[in-house]
Amino acid sequence: MPKRLISMLLLTFMCSGILFSQVRFDTSFESGSLDKVKVVDSVKFRISPNDSTALLSYEVLSRFDPKNPVDTSLAPSARWYYFRMTGTKGNTLYLNIRNSEAIRPFYSYDGIHFQRFTQEENPRRGLIIKRFNRDTVYVSHYIPYTFSRHISKLNEWKKLPFVTGEEIGRSSQGQPIDMITVTDSSVPDSFKRKIWIHGRSHPSEQPASWHLESMIDLIVSENPDAVEMRKKCIFYIVPFINPDGVTGGYSRSTSTGVNIEVNWDRPDSLTMPEVKALKAKMEQLTSDRPFDLLLNMHSQIANSVTYWIHTAKSTSESFLRRQILLSALTMGERKLYKPENQSFSDVGSRYAEGWIWNKFKDTTLAITFETPYTFYANNPGGEWVSPENLAELAKDSFYAVYDYLQIDGENRIILEPASLSGRRWNTVAYNKLVYFGDNAAKSDNSRAKAKFSKQFLKKGEYSLYIWNAGPNSESFPEDVNKWTKAGTVSQKRDGKFTWRARASHFNGIVDAIMLVKKQ
Ligand SMILES: [Zn+2]
Repeated sequence: MPKRLISMLLLTFMCSGILFSQVRFDTSFESGSLDKVKVVDSVKFRISPNDSTALLSYEVLSRFDPKNPVDTSLAPSARWYYFRMTGTKGNTLYLNIRNSEAIRPFYSYDGIHFQRFTQEENPRRGLIIKRFNRDTVYVSHYIPYTFSRHISKLNEWKKLPFVTGEEIGRSSQGQPIDMITVTDSSVPDSFKRKIWIHGRSHPSEQPASWHLESMIDLIVSENPDAVEMRKKCIFYIVPFINPDGVTGGYSRSTSTGVNIEVNWDRPDSLTMPEVKALKAKMEQLTSDRPFDLLLNMHSQIANSVTYWIHTAKSTSESFLRRQILLSALTMGERKLYKPENQSFSDVGSRYAEGWIWNKFKDTTLAITFETPYTFYANNPGGEWVSPENLAELAKDSFYAVYDYLQIDGENRIILEPASLSGRRWNTVAYNKLVYFGDNAAKSDNSRAKAKFSKQFLKKGEYSLYIWNAGPNSESFPEDVNKWTKAGTVSQKRDGKFTWRARASHFNGIVDAIMLVKKQ
Protein backbone atom coordinates (compact mmCIF):
# COMPACT_ATOMS: atom_id res chain seq x y z
CA MET A 1 0.00 0.00 0.00
CA PRO A 2 1.43 3.42 -0.90
CA LYS A 3 2.62 5.34 2.12
CA ARG A 4 0.42 8.35 1.30
CA LEU A 5 -2.77 6.25 1.40
CA ILE A 6 -1.79 4.71 4.72
CA SER A 7 -1.30 8.13 6.27
CA MET A 8 -4.65 9.34 4.86
CA LEU A 9 -6.44 6.32 6.31
CA LEU A 10 -4.70 6.91 9.59
CA LEU A 11 -5.83 10.54 9.53
CA THR A 12 -9.45 9.52 8.90
CA PHE A 13 -9.27 6.97 11.65
CA MET A 14 -7.80 9.50 14.06
CA CYS A 15 -10.49 12.04 13.18
CA SER A 16 -13.20 9.48 13.87
CA GLY A 17 -11.55 8.57 17.14
CA ILE A 18 -11.47 12.19 18.17
CA LEU A 19 -15.13 12.64 17.15
CA PHE A 20 -16.33 9.82 19.30
CA SER A 21 -14.53 11.23 22.28
CA GLN A 22 -16.03 14.66 21.53
CA VAL A 23 -19.71 13.76 21.24
CA ARG A 24 -21.03 10.71 22.99
CA PHE A 25 -24.46 9.27 22.26
CA ASP A 26 -26.34 7.28 24.87
CA THR A 27 -29.83 6.13 25.84
CA SER A 28 -29.28 4.97 29.41
CA PHE A 29 -32.39 6.66 30.81
CA GLU A 30 -36.14 6.03 30.87
CA SER A 31 -37.72 5.60 27.40
CA GLY A 32 -34.33 6.17 25.74
CA SER A 33 -34.04 4.57 22.30
CA LEU A 34 -31.54 4.52 19.47
CA ASP A 35 -29.97 1.87 17.26
CA LYS A 36 -26.66 3.07 15.79
CA VAL A 37 -24.73 6.23 15.18
CA LYS A 38 -22.20 6.46 12.35
CA VAL A 39 -19.72 9.26 11.95
CA VAL A 40 -19.91 10.68 8.44
CA ASP A 41 -17.48 13.57 8.48
CA SER A 42 -15.90 16.33 10.53
CA VAL A 43 -14.24 19.63 9.83
CA LYS A 44 -13.02 22.48 11.96
CA PHE A 45 -14.54 25.76 10.88
CA ARG A 46 -13.30 29.17 11.88
CA ILE A 47 -16.18 31.64 12.13
CA SER A 48 -14.10 34.63 13.29
CA PRO A 49 -10.58 35.07 14.72
CA ASN A 50 -11.93 34.25 18.19
CA ASP A 51 -14.61 31.73 17.35
CA SER A 52 -14.43 28.36 15.70
CA THR A 53 -16.72 25.37 15.65
CA ALA A 54 -16.34 21.74 14.72
CA LEU A 55 -18.84 20.66 12.07
CA LEU A 56 -19.67 17.09 13.01
CA SER A 57 -21.85 14.97 10.79
CA TYR A 58 -23.57 11.78 11.95
CA GLU A 59 -25.98 9.29 10.56
CA VAL A 60 -28.40 8.32 13.33
CA LEU A 61 -30.50 5.17 13.01
CA SER A 62 -33.53 4.75 15.21
CA ARG A 63 -34.15 1.28 16.62
CA PHE A 64 -36.66 -1.17 15.17
CA ASP A 65 -38.98 -3.01 17.54
CA PRO A 66 -38.32 -6.76 17.81
CA LYS A 67 -40.00 -8.88 15.16
CA ASN A 68 -43.59 -9.55 16.20
CA PRO A 69 -43.79 -13.23 17.23
CA VAL A 70 -47.61 -13.29 16.98
CA ASP A 71 -48.15 -11.41 13.71
CA THR A 72 -45.02 -12.16 11.72
CA SER A 73 -46.42 -10.27 8.73
CA LEU A 74 -46.39 -6.96 10.64
CA ALA A 75 -43.33 -4.87 9.83
CA PRO A 76 -41.59 -3.63 13.00
CA SER A 77 -41.59 0.14 13.54
CA ALA A 78 -38.63 2.37 14.43
CA ARG A 79 -40.61 5.58 14.82
CA TRP A 80 -39.51 6.46 18.36
CA TYR A 81 -36.07 7.80 19.16
CA TYR A 82 -34.84 9.54 22.26
CA PHE A 83 -31.11 9.92 22.85
CA ARG A 84 -28.66 12.03 24.77
CA MET A 85 -25.52 13.59 23.34
CA THR A 86 -22.71 14.83 25.54
CA GLY A 87 -19.75 16.93 24.50
CA THR A 88 -21.85 19.10 22.20
CA LYS A 89 -20.97 22.57 23.50
CA GLY A 90 -19.80 24.85 20.71
CA ASN A 91 -20.09 22.11 18.08
CA THR A 92 -22.30 22.31 15.02
CA LEU A 93 -24.00 18.98 14.48
CA TYR A 94 -25.45 17.57 11.27
CA LEU A 95 -27.71 14.70 12.30
CA ASN A 96 -29.31 12.64 9.60
CA ILE A 97 -31.94 10.64 11.46
CA ARG A 98 -33.10 7.56 9.56
CA ASN A 99 -36.01 5.11 9.99
CA SER A 100 -38.45 7.63 11.51
CA GLU A 101 -40.84 10.14 9.96
CA ALA A 102 -40.65 13.02 12.42
CA ILE A 103 -40.59 16.59 11.18
CA ARG A 104 -39.22 19.22 13.55
CA PRO A 105 -38.56 16.88 16.47
CA PHE A 106 -37.61 18.16 19.92
CA TYR A 107 -34.46 18.86 21.92
CA SER A 108 -33.77 19.66 25.53
CA TYR A 109 -30.73 20.70 27.55
CA ASP A 110 -32.01 19.19 30.79
CA GLY A 111 -34.29 16.30 29.77
CA ILE A 112 -37.27 18.19 31.22
CA HIS A 113 -37.91 21.30 29.12
CA PHE A 114 -38.22 20.44 25.45
CA GLN A 115 -38.55 22.62 22.39
CA ARG A 116 -39.00 21.94 18.71
CA PHE A 117 -36.12 22.40 16.31
CA THR A 118 -36.96 25.35 14.08
CA GLN A 119 -37.68 25.02 10.38
CA GLU A 120 -34.14 26.27 9.65
CA GLU A 121 -32.61 23.73 12.04
CA ASN A 122 -34.68 20.91 10.49
CA PRO A 123 -34.91 21.89 6.81
CA ARG A 124 -36.09 18.48 5.68
CA ARG A 125 -37.30 15.24 7.20
CA GLY A 126 -34.63 13.64 9.38
CA LEU A 127 -31.94 16.31 8.89
CA ILE A 128 -30.98 18.45 11.87
CA ILE A 129 -28.33 21.16 11.69
CA LYS A 130 -27.64 23.09 14.87
CA ARG A 131 -24.81 24.59 16.85
CA PHE A 132 -25.48 23.69 20.47
CA ASN A 133 -24.39 25.96 23.30
CA ARG A 134 -24.58 23.39 26.11
CA ASP A 135 -22.60 20.26 26.70
CA THR A 136 -25.58 17.89 27.07
CA VAL A 137 -28.49 17.69 24.64
CA TYR A 138 -31.46 15.32 24.53
CA VAL A 139 -33.13 14.75 21.17
CA SER A 140 -36.54 13.10 20.87
CA HIS A 141 -39.23 12.45 18.32
CA TYR A 142 -41.81 14.11 20.60
CA ILE A 143 -41.79 15.45 24.19
CA PRO A 144 -41.48 12.22 26.21
CA TYR A 145 -44.42 11.21 28.35
CA THR A 146 -42.75 8.66 30.60
CA PHE A 147 -43.94 5.94 32.91
CA SER A 148 -42.61 8.00 35.85
CA ARG A 149 -44.84 10.91 34.86
CA HIS A 150 -47.77 8.53 34.54
CA ILE A 151 -47.14 7.17 38.07
CA SER A 152 -46.78 10.63 39.57
CA LYS A 153 -50.02 11.86 37.93
CA LEU A 154 -51.74 8.67 39.01
CA ASN A 155 -50.72 9.28 42.63
CA GLU A 156 -51.97 12.87 42.38
CA TRP A 157 -55.38 11.76 41.02
CA LYS A 158 -55.73 8.94 43.55
CA LYS A 159 -55.60 11.45 46.41
CA LEU A 160 -58.92 12.95 45.28
CA PRO A 161 -62.02 11.76 47.16
CA PHE A 162 -63.90 10.66 44.02
CA VAL A 163 -60.98 8.73 42.50
CA THR A 164 -60.03 5.17 43.37
CA GLY A 165 -57.01 3.37 42.02
CA GLU A 166 -56.56 -0.30 41.32
CA GLU A 167 -53.98 -2.53 39.66
CA ILE A 168 -55.78 -4.58 37.01
CA GLY A 169 -52.83 -6.71 36.03
CA ARG A 170 -49.14 -6.83 35.24
CA SER A 171 -47.16 -6.52 32.03
CA SER A 172 -44.82 -9.22 30.69
CA GLN A 173 -42.01 -7.63 32.68
CA GLY A 174 -44.14 -7.39 35.83
CA GLN A 175 -44.95 -3.68 35.75
CA PRO A 176 -48.35 -2.60 37.05
CA ILE A 177 -51.23 -1.79 34.72
CA ASP A 178 -53.26 0.72 36.69
CA MET A 179 -56.85 1.82 36.39
CA ILE A 180 -58.55 4.76 38.07
CA THR A 181 -62.28 4.88 38.62
CA VAL A 182 -63.73 8.38 38.76
CA THR A 183 -67.25 8.99 40.03
CA ASP A 184 -69.22 10.78 42.72
CA SER A 185 -69.86 7.89 45.09
CA SER A 186 -72.59 9.80 46.96
CA VAL A 187 -74.80 9.11 43.93
CA PRO A 188 -75.85 5.47 43.33
CA ASP A 189 -74.07 3.84 40.39
CA SER A 190 -77.12 2.11 38.96
CA PHE A 191 -78.22 5.02 36.74
CA LYS A 192 -74.79 6.25 35.77
CA ARG A 193 -73.39 6.17 32.26
CA LYS A 194 -70.29 3.99 31.97
CA ILE A 195 -67.27 5.28 30.12
CA TRP A 196 -64.08 3.28 29.56
CA ILE A 197 -60.93 5.06 28.34
CA HIS A 198 -57.52 3.49 27.72
CA GLY A 199 -54.37 4.75 26.10
CA ARG A 200 -50.81 4.26 25.06
CA SER A 201 -50.87 0.80 23.54
CA HIS A 202 -48.30 2.29 21.16
CA PRO A 203 -45.34 3.62 23.15
CA SER A 204 -44.17 6.21 20.59
CA GLU A 205 -47.53 7.98 20.75
CA GLN A 206 -46.55 10.54 23.38
CA PRO A 207 -49.06 13.25 22.28
CA ALA A 208 -51.92 10.84 23.08
CA SER A 209 -50.76 10.72 26.71
CA TRP A 210 -50.48 14.51 26.97
CA HIS A 211 -54.01 14.76 25.59
CA LEU A 212 -55.38 12.07 27.93
CA GLU A 213 -53.65 13.59 30.96
CA SER A 214 -55.38 16.92 30.29
CA MET A 215 -58.69 15.17 29.76
CA ILE A 216 -58.38 13.35 33.10
CA ASP A 217 -57.31 16.58 34.81
CA LEU A 218 -60.56 18.11 33.56
CA ILE A 219 -62.71 15.10 34.54
CA VAL A 220 -61.39 15.29 38.12
CA SER A 221 -61.49 19.09 38.31
CA GLU A 222 -63.86 21.41 40.13
CA ASN A 223 -65.23 22.68 36.80
CA PRO A 224 -69.04 22.61 37.44
CA ASP A 225 -69.60 20.51 34.31
CA ALA A 226 -67.03 17.96 35.57
CA VAL A 227 -68.81 17.87 38.94
CA GLU A 228 -72.05 17.05 37.06
CA MET A 229 -70.30 14.44 34.94
CA ARG A 230 -69.08 12.65 38.07
CA LYS A 231 -72.63 12.55 39.43
CA LYS A 232 -73.98 11.05 36.23
CA CYS A 233 -71.09 8.91 34.97
CA ILE A 234 -68.49 6.40 36.06
CA PHE A 235 -65.17 6.70 34.27
CA TYR A 236 -62.86 3.68 34.13
CA ILE A 237 -59.52 4.93 32.87
CA VAL A 238 -56.35 2.93 32.11
CA PRO A 239 -53.90 5.57 30.87
CA PHE A 240 -50.91 3.25 30.27
CA ILE A 241 -51.74 -0.18 28.89
CA ASN A 242 -48.20 -0.88 27.67
CA PRO A 243 -45.78 0.11 30.46
CA ASP A 244 -42.95 -2.16 29.18
CA GLY A 245 -43.11 -0.65 25.71
CA VAL A 246 -42.94 2.89 27.08
CA THR A 247 -40.16 2.35 29.63
CA GLY A 248 -38.09 0.38 27.11
CA GLY A 249 -38.41 3.04 24.41
CA TYR A 250 -40.22 0.83 21.89
CA SER A 251 -42.27 2.27 19.05
CA ARG A 252 -45.42 0.21 18.57
CA SER A 253 -44.84 -2.98 20.56
CA THR A 254 -44.26 -4.40 23.99
CA SER A 255 -40.74 -5.47 24.96
CA THR A 256 -41.51 -8.82 23.28
CA GLY A 257 -42.31 -7.24 19.91
CA VAL A 258 -46.07 -7.76 20.08
CA ASN A 259 -48.34 -4.92 18.92
CA ILE A 260 -51.04 -5.27 21.59
CA GLU A 261 -53.39 -3.02 19.62
CA VAL A 262 -54.07 -5.94 17.25
CA ASN A 263 -53.90 -8.76 19.78
CA TRP A 264 -57.58 -8.98 20.72
CA ASP A 265 -58.74 -11.92 18.57
CA ARG A 266 -55.96 -14.37 19.42
CA PRO A 267 -56.24 -17.65 21.29
CA ASP A 268 -55.23 -17.41 24.96
CA SER A 269 -51.76 -18.81 24.30
CA LEU A 270 -51.00 -15.87 21.95
CA THR A 271 -52.79 -13.15 23.95
CA MET A 272 -50.40 -10.86 25.79
CA PRO A 273 -50.78 -10.38 29.57
CA GLU A 274 -51.63 -6.70 29.01
CA VAL A 275 -54.60 -7.59 26.76
CA LYS A 276 -55.67 -10.40 29.09
CA ALA A 277 -55.76 -7.95 31.99
CA LEU A 278 -57.86 -5.46 30.02
CA LYS A 279 -60.28 -8.12 28.80
CA ALA A 280 -60.75 -9.54 32.30
CA LYS A 281 -61.46 -6.09 33.76
CA MET A 282 -63.85 -5.19 30.95
CA GLU A 283 -65.69 -8.51 31.34
CA GLN A 284 -66.09 -7.85 35.05
CA LEU A 285 -67.26 -4.24 34.63
CA THR A 286 -69.77 -5.09 31.90
CA SER A 287 -71.25 -8.15 33.61
CA ASP A 288 -74.35 -6.13 34.59
CA ARG A 289 -74.56 -3.80 31.57
CA PRO A 290 -72.26 -2.67 28.75
CA PHE A 291 -70.20 0.51 28.61
CA ASP A 292 -71.94 3.43 26.93
CA LEU A 293 -68.69 4.69 25.47
CA LEU A 294 -65.16 3.35 24.98
CA LEU A 295 -62.33 5.62 23.87
CA ASN A 296 -58.99 4.19 22.72
CA MET A 297 -56.40 6.98 22.68
CA HIS A 298 -53.67 7.11 20.02
CA SER A 299 -51.48 9.43 17.96
CA GLN A 300 -50.96 9.21 14.21
CA ILE A 301 -48.33 10.43 11.76
CA ALA A 302 -50.98 12.06 9.54
CA ASN A 303 -51.06 15.76 10.40
CA SER A 304 -54.63 15.84 11.65
CA VAL A 305 -56.84 14.79 14.52
CA THR A 306 -59.18 11.93 13.70
CA TYR A 307 -61.52 9.27 14.94
CA TRP A 308 -61.45 5.90 13.19
CA ILE A 309 -65.14 5.81 12.43
CA HIS A 310 -66.53 2.38 11.66
CA THR A 311 -68.34 2.21 8.36
CA ALA A 312 -72.11 1.69 8.22
CA LYS A 313 -71.66 -1.49 6.17
CA SER A 314 -69.57 -3.07 8.94
CA THR A 315 -71.87 -1.74 11.72
CA SER A 316 -75.15 0.10 11.04
CA GLU A 317 -76.45 3.47 9.79
CA SER A 318 -77.46 4.51 13.30
CA PHE A 319 -74.07 3.51 14.70
CA LEU A 320 -72.40 5.58 12.00
CA ARG A 321 -74.63 8.54 12.90
CA ARG A 322 -73.75 8.31 16.58
CA GLN A 323 -70.03 8.04 15.80
CA ILE A 324 -70.25 11.12 13.57
CA LEU A 325 -72.21 12.93 16.28
CA LEU A 326 -69.39 12.28 18.77
CA SER A 327 -66.79 13.20 16.17
CA ALA A 328 -68.55 16.42 15.12
CA LEU A 329 -68.96 17.42 18.78
CA THR A 330 -65.21 16.91 19.32
CA MET A 331 -64.52 19.39 16.51
CA GLY A 332 -65.70 22.23 18.79
CA GLU A 333 -65.01 25.45 16.93
CA ARG A 334 -63.40 23.49 14.06
CA LYS A 335 -59.97 24.86 14.85
CA LEU A 336 -57.90 21.74 15.61
CA TYR A 337 -60.21 19.09 14.09
CA LYS A 338 -62.27 19.56 10.94
CA PRO A 339 -64.91 17.49 9.10
CA GLU A 340 -62.53 16.53 6.28
CA ASN A 341 -60.10 15.01 8.83
CA GLN A 342 -62.42 12.11 9.72
CA SER A 343 -61.13 8.59 8.93
CA PHE A 344 -63.18 5.50 8.19
CA SER A 345 -62.54 1.79 8.43
CA ASP A 346 -64.47 -1.43 8.88
CA VAL A 347 -64.77 -2.74 12.41
CA GLY A 348 -62.15 -5.49 12.92
CA SER A 349 -62.15 -8.11 15.64
CA ARG A 350 -58.38 -7.92 16.19
CA TYR A 351 -58.91 -4.49 17.79
CA ALA A 352 -60.44 -3.66 21.20
CA GLU A 353 -63.35 -1.97 19.36
CA GLY A 354 -64.04 -5.14 17.39
CA TRP A 355 -63.92 -7.26 20.53
CA ILE A 356 -66.49 -4.91 22.12
CA TRP A 357 -68.61 -4.85 18.93
CA ASN A 358 -68.75 -8.66 18.89
CA LYS A 359 -70.01 -8.65 22.48
CA PHE A 360 -72.31 -5.65 22.66
CA LYS A 361 -72.94 -4.49 19.08
CA ASP A 362 -74.13 -0.88 18.96
CA THR A 363 -74.95 -0.52 22.66
CA THR A 364 -71.34 0.58 23.25
CA LEU A 365 -69.84 3.26 21.08
CA ALA A 366 -66.24 2.03 21.00
CA ILE A 367 -63.86 4.12 18.93
CA THR A 368 -60.21 5.06 18.46
CA PHE A 369 -59.17 8.71 18.66
CA GLU A 370 -55.91 9.98 17.18
CA THR A 371 -53.97 13.15 17.81
CA PRO A 372 -51.21 14.23 15.43
CA TYR A 373 -47.55 14.74 16.37
CA THR A 374 -46.73 17.71 14.20
CA PHE A 375 -49.50 20.13 13.24
CA TYR A 376 -53.29 20.16 12.96
CA ALA A 377 -55.78 19.95 10.09
CA ASN A 378 -52.99 19.43 7.53
CA ASN A 379 -52.03 23.06 8.00
CA PRO A 380 -48.32 23.69 8.66
CA GLY A 381 -49.14 27.41 8.87
CA GLY A 382 -51.38 26.76 11.89
CA GLU A 383 -50.52 25.63 15.40
CA TRP A 384 -47.89 22.93 15.91
CA VAL A 385 -48.79 20.17 18.35
CA SER A 386 -47.87 21.05 21.94
CA PRO A 387 -49.07 19.94 25.39
CA GLU A 388 -50.88 23.31 25.57
CA ASN A 389 -53.01 22.86 22.45
CA LEU A 390 -53.48 19.15 23.24
CA ALA A 391 -55.06 20.43 26.47
CA GLU A 392 -57.42 22.59 24.37
CA LEU A 393 -58.28 19.53 22.32
CA ALA A 394 -58.85 17.59 25.57
CA LYS A 395 -61.44 20.19 26.53
CA ASP A 396 -63.21 19.61 23.21
CA SER A 397 -63.02 15.84 23.88
CA PHE A 398 -64.48 16.34 27.36
CA TYR A 399 -67.45 18.39 26.11
CA ALA A 400 -67.99 15.98 23.22
CA VAL A 401 -68.46 13.17 25.75
CA TYR A 402 -70.70 15.39 27.89
CA ASP A 403 -72.92 16.38 24.97
CA TYR A 404 -72.90 12.97 23.29
CA LEU A 405 -74.22 11.41 26.52
CA GLN A 406 -76.63 14.36 26.96
CA ILE A 407 -75.59 14.81 30.57
CA ASP A 408 -78.41 16.59 32.34
CA GLY A 409 -76.32 19.08 34.26
CA GLU A 410 -77.25 22.36 35.91
CA ASN A 411 -75.16 24.62 33.72
CA ARG A 412 -75.13 22.87 30.36
CA ILE A 413 -78.43 21.37 29.27
CA ILE A 414 -79.41 19.71 26.00
CA LEU A 415 -83.12 19.60 25.20
CA GLU A 416 -85.01 17.91 22.43
CA PRO A 417 -88.42 19.27 21.39
CA ALA A 418 -91.19 18.60 23.92
CA SER A 419 -93.80 19.09 21.23
CA LEU A 420 -94.24 20.22 17.64
CA SER A 421 -97.30 22.29 16.92
CA GLY A 422 -99.77 21.55 14.13
CA ARG A 423 -99.53 18.89 11.45
CA ARG A 424 -96.86 20.62 9.46
CA TRP A 425 -93.93 18.52 10.65
CA ASN A 426 -92.38 15.44 9.09
CA THR A 427 -89.79 13.15 10.61
CA VAL A 428 -86.42 13.29 8.89
CA ALA A 429 -85.61 9.97 7.22
CA TYR A 430 -83.81 7.89 9.82
CA ASN A 431 -80.07 8.40 10.03
CA LYS A 432 -79.85 10.67 7.00
CA LEU A 433 -78.86 13.53 9.29
CA VAL A 434 -76.69 13.72 12.41
CA TYR A 435 -79.11 14.33 15.24
CA PHE A 436 -79.52 13.72 18.98
CA GLY A 437 -82.00 11.17 20.26
CA ASP A 438 -84.16 9.10 17.95
CA ASN A 439 -84.97 11.51 15.15
CA ALA A 440 -85.15 15.07 13.91
CA ALA A 441 -88.19 16.89 12.54
CA LYS A 442 -88.56 18.84 9.34
CA SER A 443 -91.07 21.43 8.20
CA ASP A 444 -91.34 23.49 5.03
CA ASN A 445 -93.91 25.70 6.70
CA SER A 446 -92.05 28.58 8.29
CA ARG A 447 -94.92 29.09 10.78
CA ALA A 448 -94.64 25.61 12.24
CA LYS A 449 -93.54 25.83 15.84
CA ALA A 450 -91.46 23.67 18.17
CA LYS A 451 -91.67 23.86 21.94
CA PHE A 452 -88.79 23.00 24.28
CA SER A 453 -89.32 22.67 28.00
CA LYS A 454 -87.70 21.52 31.18
CA GLN A 455 -89.38 20.99 34.54
CA PHE A 456 -86.72 22.80 36.49
CA LEU A 457 -84.14 25.35 35.42
CA LYS A 458 -82.18 27.54 37.83
CA LYS A 459 -82.68 31.26 37.41
CA GLY A 460 -80.04 33.07 35.41
CA GLU A 461 -78.82 34.05 31.97
CA TYR A 462 -78.17 31.28 29.47
CA SER A 463 -76.61 31.25 26.02
CA LEU A 464 -78.87 29.31 23.68
CA TYR A 465 -77.39 27.12 20.95
CA ILE A 466 -79.18 25.28 18.17
CA TRP A 467 -77.93 21.95 16.83
CA ASN A 468 -77.52 22.49 13.12
CA ALA A 469 -78.09 18.92 11.88
CA GLY A 470 -76.13 18.13 8.71
CA PRO A 471 -75.66 15.01 6.60
CA ASN A 472 -74.68 11.67 8.11
CA SER A 473 -71.87 11.21 5.62
CA GLU A 474 -68.11 10.95 5.46
CA SER A 475 -67.68 14.69 5.20
CA PHE A 476 -69.94 17.67 5.67
CA PRO A 477 -69.67 21.47 5.51
CA GLU A 478 -67.91 23.19 8.43
CA ASP A 479 -71.03 25.03 9.60
CA VAL A 480 -73.27 21.97 10.09
CA ASN A 481 -73.32 19.18 12.66
CA LYS A 482 -72.41 21.95 15.04
CA TRP A 483 -73.83 24.03 17.86
CA THR A 484 -74.73 27.48 16.54
CA LYS A 485 -75.33 30.29 18.97
CA ALA A 486 -78.85 31.59 18.52
CA GLY A 487 -79.23 34.07 21.35
CA THR A 488 -79.62 34.48 25.08
CA VAL A 489 -82.47 33.39 27.31
CA SER A 490 -83.21 34.79 30.72
CA GLN A 491 -84.77 32.52 33.32
CA LYS A 492 -86.38 34.89 35.82
CA ARG A 493 -86.77 32.43 38.68
CA ASP A 494 -85.99 28.83 39.58
CA GLY A 495 -88.62 26.59 37.98
CA LYS A 496 -90.15 25.51 34.70
CA PHE A 497 -88.47 26.59 31.50
CA THR A 498 -90.24 26.86 28.14
CA TRP A 499 -88.96 28.09 24.82
CA ARG A 500 -90.80 28.17 21.50
CA ALA A 501 -89.37 28.78 18.08
CA ARG A 502 -90.56 28.67 14.50
CA ALA A 503 -89.26 26.13 12.02
CA SER A 504 -87.66 28.99 10.11
CA HIS A 505 -85.47 29.60 13.16
CA PHE A 506 -83.87 26.21 12.48
CA ASN A 507 -83.73 26.39 8.66
CA GLY A 508 -86.66 23.99 8.65
CA ILE A 509 -84.99 21.13 10.54
CA VAL A 510 -85.40 21.04 14.28
CA ASP A 511 -83.43 18.82 16.61
CA ALA A 512 -81.79 19.73 19.90
CA ILE A 513 -81.06 23.01 21.63
CA MET A 514 -78.48 23.61 24.34
CA LEU A 515 -78.51 26.08 27.21
CA VAL A 516 -75.17 27.09 28.70
CA LYS A 517 -75.38 29.10 31.89
CA LYS A 518 -73.40 32.33 31.89
CA GLN A 519 -71.04 32.37 34.86
ZN1 LIG B 1 -51.50 3.94 17.79
